[in-house]
Amino acid sequence: MATPAVAEGVSAAAITALRAVLRRAHQAAERSGRRPEAVRVVAVGKTKPVSLIRQLYDAGHRCFGENYVQEIVEKAPQLPSDIEWHYIGHLQSNKAKSLLASVPNLDMVQSVDNEKIANYLDKAVAGLGRKPLKVLVQVNTSGEESKSGINPSNCVELAKHVKHSCPNLIFSGLMTIGMRDYSSKPENFQALSKCREEVSKALDLPQEQFELSMGMSGDFEQAIEMGSTNVRIGSIIFGPREYPNRKQA
Ligand SMILES: *Cc1c(COP(=O)(O)O)cnc(C)c1O
Repeated sequence: MATPAVAEGVSAAAITALRAVLRRAHQAAERSGRRPEAVRVVAVGKTKPVSLIRQLYDAGHRCFGENYVQEIVEKAPQLPSDIEWHYIGHLQSNKAKSLLASVPNLDMVQSVDNEKIANYLDKAVAGLGRKPLKVLVQVNTSGEESKSGINPSNCVELAKHVKHSCPNLIFSGLMTIGMRDYSSKPENFQALSKCREEVSKALDLPQEQFELSMGMSGDFEQAIEMGSTNVRIGSIIFGPREYPNRKQA
């Protein structure tokens, strides 16, 4: 058990780390000729306690992300309702309803990678009568089997499905997870950008209308310079994750 003094020290560190990330993200946005507000920083608190998220909230941050349904469903009700939650993890269709019911302030699901899950989310939104839900289509740009996400060649089809057949969802763009050791390999980001070009052409809408969620702790500045509008940052804000019963994910 941490003593209170240690716990306080940890949270102060998280606030300092968050501010450093925001500054670096804003500078990267400016380097890419965009305004700082053009990039959203989602603080990913998975495995971290509600108290630590609360500290960042009190410091003024509002965008938080989780990637386990069980965790977000537990945490969100304990935290203020003006938090903008982003669900960024793999989602099973039988969890879509409880996710939406437990997190009324869920702003976006960034990880839609098949029609079935889109349909379940669409139905769940309708059933709850909540406002339409923003979704991103997750694309597997690295070809690694361990990663979720639709094959790049199928992203247009799925985007069209969400846009045209899911009236309670708002198709808002694309998301990808880069390779782990990948600072020298921006191919994943280029690939996602290319997907956005194809999707916007197919939907006959300007590219700027669609988000690119790419960039994590190790590569977010590069991702922003390559057009990311949304970075998902966990470990460099909250510290390394510890998984008692699980392998590092
Ligand atoms: C955990 C996670 C992140 C954050 O990863 P860090 O490397 O700790 O910043 C981002 N995106 C997804 C989908 C995640 O699961």
